[in-house]
Amino acid sequence: MLFFDRELPDGSSNWGLCHQDKKIIWIVRNSGDREQEIDTFFHELFHAVWHEYRRSNRETEEIAVTILAAGLSKALTNNPSLLQYLTQNQKIE
Ligand SMILES: [Zn+2]
Repeated sequence: MLFFDRELPDGSSNWGLCHQDKKIIWIVRNSGDREQEIDTFFHELFHAVWHEYRRSNRETEEIAVTILAAGLSKALTNNPSLLQYLTQNQKIE
């Protein structure tokens, strides 16, 4: 489940939160920084995936999800037609 809200339920100033046991991801919306929101979405999604596959090293997890989220969000923001290509089987322009 995915929620977009102006604040996170834990009251922190982070951009997102993944509650792994409840399978909920929160993302701060309308922050004015769209690339940051996309990066945060992937960051929290990768935390959920990491947890789903029962990986446990927290330090390695944080590094891995940060790198993967940054790379994927950059690829999507630099290539606006990529998401459309992936979801609708259209040609990349
Ligand atoms: Zn994290």
